[in-house]
Parts: sequence; C-alpha cells; structure tokens
Amino acid sequence: MYEYIKENGIVYIEISTHIKHNRIRLRVSDQNTYRKNIRVSMNQDTFTLAHTIETKEKQIWTEKKKIGLDKGYRTMLVSSSGNDYGEGLNSFLSEETERLNDINKKRNKYYAMVQTLKEQGDLGKAERIQLNNLGKQKYQKKKRRHDATVKNFINCQLNTLIKTEKPSTIAVENLAFVSQNDRMPKHVKRKLSRWIKGYVDKRLSFKCDISGIKYEYVNPAYTSQECHKCGQLGVRPTQEKFICHTCGTFHADKNAAKTILNRLDEKEINLYTPYKQVKEILQKREAKMMTTSM
Ligand SMILES: [Zn+2]
Repeated sequence: MYEYIKENGIVYIEISTHIKHNRIRLRVSDQNTYRKNIRVSMNQDTFTLAHTIETKEKQIWTEKKKIGLDKGYRTMLVSSSGNDYGEGLNSFLSEETERLNDINKKRNKYYAMVQTLKEQGDLGKAERIQLNNLGKQKYQKKKRRHDATVKNFINCQLNTLIKTEKPSTIAVENLAFVSQNDRMPKHVKRKLSRWIKGYVDKRLSFKCDISGIKYEYVNPAYTSQECHKCGQLGVRPTQEKFICHTCGTFHADKNAAKTILNRLDEKEINLYTPYKQVKEILQKREAKMMTTSM
C-alpha cells in the first residue's frame, strides 16, 4: 500500500506499515510514479523501490551455445570459450580501496584529536576540525560516485560478453554455496567485495532473462582444481597456472570456466552434492586413472 505525495515541488512516497495510521514517508530521487506492486528494499541509508516490468524474450541468435563463466583472478569473468571480460576491475577496485583506507586513517586521526580537544574543553577548535576535516557527506558522495562508475563498467562488460559470446545457456557457480572457500587468496577476496560479486550475478541474470538466455547454477566445489579434460584433481602452483598430471598445463581461470561448463552435464556432481563428497569423487577418478595408466 503506497501513495505518491507532492509537496513544494518535492515528490515523496508514503508506504503503509503494519501499524495502523503509521506511514513511512520517503523522498524519491526520480520523477517516476508507478501504480503496480512495488518491492521495497533497504540498504544502509537508502531505500530502493523496485517494480516489475514486462519484457519480451528477445534472442536474436538461434544456435545453441552453452558457455561456462568463472570469476577470474585478474578479470571480472572468464569464459569457457577463452575470452576475458572486465580486465582491470581488480586493480581499479584496489586503487579505490586503498584511497578510501587512506581517507579513513586520516579521519580516525582527526576523530581522536576532536575527542581529546573536547575532553580538554577546547570546544571551538574541536568544532572547527570537525567541520573542516570530517566531511562525511563529501566522503559519501565520492563513494557513491565511485560505486556508480564500477556499476557502469560492470554493465558495459556484461553487454560485451553477451554480444560476443551469443550464448543460449550460461553456467555459473552458485555463489550462495561458496563458503568463502580457498579459491582466492585473501587480498583478492577482499577486493572483489561481496556487493560486487552479488551485483555481477544479479545483473548477469537480469540481462540473460531479458535476452532469453538460460542462466544455470552449478556446484562450485573444486571447480578450480578439477581438470576440464579428464575430470581428475590437478594442482594450481600459481594463480594463473593449472596442471593436470595426465593432460598438461592450462590457464587456471580458463580451465575453471570449462569445468563449470562441464558441470552442466556432470552425472556424479549435481548442485547439491556436498563439498567433501565432490572431493571424494574427484579423488576416485584420479585413482582410477592411475591404475589404468599403469
Ligand atoms: Zn586432465
């Protein structure tokens, strides 16, 4: 239940709550008004109103092409066809992360200073420092601008991906199941923050929906350690390299993308096979290979 209200040229939306006569009033950031069902979600200090739109499935290409996508080490996504998308996202993000960390460090120093001045009773100086150096709004504005740039970059790359690959089905790992596993080193995990992974996933599934591309989740266990050719466990001596004792050396991200693609037709490992069991299956394959090759 909601209603739009215009006061002094500003548009608000008033949303009913479970308490009678108690409505929440939010200022809307655009001029759009809707009459259909809306969904309200909250994220820190912003509310997002989402409404459904009807889209026609449009897929201009007709050939069946399944691809697997993996989140790369240096790139946003690596396709089983061998292409990279979103190169430089990591370094771009780490630059910004470092910049924000620097600002935060400085801010913390000023906070401490303000606190001391207040304790000493020098309220005038405390206020001046607070006004000049602790600009929360400025900081938030910069952060929002950066986030918008990142989102724009991600969307452009996803569009390129769809246009280049022209897939009928895309296989990706089910992120909900990734229990912060050991696939990436810590500093990379931190850089590819949760919201970015979530955002890439959300936008890709949306773009697939409107283009009539099937979007399928597969089991993420050991995709970076399984050989895409023979299905046995291999080793990953560096982030870029994957070595299978039988098949040789591959680019690690590309091997993972191909393994993800294989998981679509994998008989033994389905979406719900537990992590440990996946390892046992892969080890059994390895043992079998060893005995046949001897
Ligand atoms: Zn192999």
